Amino acid sequence: MQLAGAMAALASLPETHLIAQSPFYASRPVGPQDQPDFVNGAAALETRLSAEALLDRLQSIEQDHARERLEHWGPRTLDLDLLLFGDQCIRTDRLTVPHAELPNRDFVLQPLLDIDRDLTLPDGTAIRNLRDRCPDNHLRRLASPGTPD
Ligand code: AMP
Repeated sequence: MQLAGAMAALASLPETHLIAQSPFYASRPVGPQDQPDFVNGAAALETRLSAEALLDRLQSIEQDHARERLEHWGPRTLDLDLLLFGDQCIRTDRLTVPHAELPNRDFVLQPLLDIDRDLTLPDGTAIRNLRDRCPDNHLRRLASPGTPD
C-alpha cells in the first residue's frame, strides 16, 4: 500500500526520526462520492529540519510516488500534509500550520489521537474535542500489518 511506502520514506529522511505511526483508516472521499475510499494515517517525526525544508521533502516523496504509479498501475495519489509542527503557528505563502483543515477532518484527528490522546493545538484546544465535534466521514480502522483483525 502506498501509505506504508510513504512511512518508510519518512523514516529515511535526513536529520529526522519516525517516532510513531498511527493505524490506517479508510474514509469516504471528501467531495465527489464516485471515487474509491481514501486511506489515511498520521506519523510523528522528530526532526532538525525547518518546517519549509520538511515540506520540500514531503513534496518530493509525493512526486516520487506519482512517478512510480505512472510506471506501474496508473494514477493513485499520495498527499502528505504537515499537520502540526511542535507548538508553532506558521503562516507563509507555502505553509499554514496547524493545517487549515485539521479541525474539520476526523480522518486526520483520529490518527493523531491514536499517536497521542492528549495532543493539543498550539492554542491549547484538545484534539479530542475537535474530533468529537467533527463531521463524520465513516472511518474504518484497517488492520495494521502483523496484527489480527
Ligand atoms: P494539497 O495538494 O491540497 O495538499 O495542497 C498543497 C499545497 O498546500 C502546497 O502548495 C503547499 O505549499 C500548501 N500548504 C499550505 N499549508 C500546508 C501544510 N500544512 N501542509 C502541506 N501543504 C501545505
